[in-house]
Amino acid sequence: MLRQVADGVLIHQSEFCQSNAVVVQGRAGLLLIDPGILGDEMAALADDLRELGQPVVAGFSTHPHWDHLLWHARLGGAPRYGTARCAATVRDRLSDPGAKARIAEQQIPPDIAERVPLDLLGLITGLPAETAQIPWDGPQARIIEHQAHAPGHAALLIEERGVLVAGDMLSDVLIPMLDLNGTADPIEDYLAALRLLEGAAEGVDILVPGHGSVGGADQVRVRIDQDRAYVHALRDAQVLSDPRVGPSATYDWMPGVHARQLQRLAQRSERDGTPG
Ligand SMILES: [Zn+2]
Repeated sequence: MLRQVADGVLIHQSEFCQSNAVVVQGRAGLLLIDPGILGDEMAALADDLRELGQPVVAGFSTHPHWDHLLWHARLGGAPRYGTARCAATVRDRLSDPGAKARIAEQQIPPDIAERVPLDLLGLITGLPAETAQIPWDGPQARIIEHQAHAPGHAALLIEERGVLVAGDMLSDVLIPMLDLNGTADPIEDYLAALRLLEGAAEGVDILVPGHGSVGGADQVRVRIDQDRAYVHALRDAQVLSDPRVGPSATYDWMPGVHARQLQRLAQRSERDGTPG
């Protein structure tokens, strides 16, 4: 069930965590960003794409988390890309033979695990660090890489269509989830990423987050401000007034994510503050 959100840009929303797959129509084929989660959904998507009369000619994963790295054989054998850092992280995390089983067991919710095909997980090619846009024959898709939610996370700006594909940033249902593994200053990294998106988002009419609802031009500003306010509150351990973790939150596990982030950050500052 594809929905057009801009001229030549369509999305498919998964029943899992409102995950958005994005399809961009090019001259001789389609660019498919973060294809989806469930095997049957991706197969149905492949059928829908066939009806558009163009093959998938390029794929892109916004970041190295399992829910953005999937693929289905029926989508074809087009090259799938990510940033160099994203691809290196995937390679590293999938390097041992038990990696997929571990992901299935520890990261994928048990109620959907059987429906998530992992055979083509993470088969992406890293684009060299200086790559400014996706190499494909279609509307320019500018790569806006930043250090925030995951290593090598990238948003894509399809300027010609007025669309910003934000990856796991700027969601109306998920709070900012910081990359707390190994980065020196995850708070400042996240704020810098929001500034970068803010600079890129001028003139954007449609915002597509990795999870949640598509927003119009007014939502771009609202969501940047909301994410920034959340990160500030997290940094300063302030009381939160964020609807994504409040009583009307879409996901009841979101307050738990927030509590864990607070705890991890407190542990970090304790550790950093201890001499020696
Ligand atoms: Zn995600």
